[in-house]
Amino acid sequence: MAGDVSDLRIFSCGAGVQSTAIALLMRDGTLPLVDHVIFADTGWEPASVYAQVDRLAVLFDELGIPLHRVSQGNLRADAIDPEHRFASVPYFVRNPDGSDGMGRRQCTSEYKLAPINRKVRELLGAAAPKFRRVPKGRRAEQWIGFSTDEVGRVSPSRVQYLTARHPLLDLGMSRRDCGRYLEQAGWGDTAKSACIGCPYHGNRAWRELRDEHPAEWADAVAFDAAIRKGGARGEHLRGEAFLHRSRIPLSIAPIDRWTRGDKAEAQAEVQGDLFDLVEDGDPDGCSPYGCRSGTAA
Ligand code: SF4
Repeated sequence: MAGDVSDLRIFSCGAGVQSTAIALLMRDGTLPLVDHVIFADTGWEPASVYAQVDRLAVLFDELGIPLHRVSQGNLRADAIDPEHRFASVPYFVRNPDGSDGMGRRQCTSEYKLAPINRKVRELLGAAAPKFRRVPKGRRAEQWIGFSTDEVGRVSPSRVQYLTARHPLLDLGMSRRDCGRYLEQAGWGDTAKSACIGCPYHGNRAWRELRDEHPAEWADAVAFDAAIRKGGARGEHLRGEAFLHRSRIPLSIAPIDRWTRGDKAEAQAEVQGDLFDLVEDGDPDGCSPYGCRSGTAA
């Protein structure tokens, strides 16, 4: 397999729970080895994710697999740079008429999918410097870490030179199975991977950031204040944008754990799955390959 550019196995590694499970399943021989691993860095990952990528780099090195770290720039800086083209993050928006809206999510495709695909084309022999065109007949098998609880997100590859493969689905592993497997392997502290200020965070993730990573929390709070009117050049935001789903500034947003009484009251008013969403965040999270679209603001 290795060396045959028309038939490469490439693993898109997000460094979260499922991706780390795939890496360890390769190490223990349950899965075959891939030829390349690609990690897309948005520039705004928490320190824990960068530490995990470094730890995985050692593992891949031991397996003889090159790990490529690719980037399309710094999402945080671009999103609030008035000189930068609009970087569309799925903010929660309060429209001028008081109604609620949601920003479109294009950050994943711009800061993860685009640099990954560019690297794949390069590995398949596309010519420098732009690596646009893959030579005819060359294809890669792309491993994506969806687990059985995410089966609804599976979609065929959108580009001809890639065939998607989902090794965790083939093994029938759920996210919980992956977590258990990581525990047993000594990688139990692996965290969900997402940008520091991702609006998909639930209250649990926001609390963890505030209580355990105060510098990253301060960074998210400052960013939240900076995006109120949209930030980057391009579409002018007529309403106001927020990172927290309450559409209240993050510094004072209601992120603390609800008491039993609060929970009972809230569940009487909202559907149960909405309660889980508030606490645990969007179950879909951020994958470059998940088919997902928010309501446009
Ligand atoms: S983690 Fe959130 S902010 Fe970062 S790229 Fe994904 S959707 Fe966008």
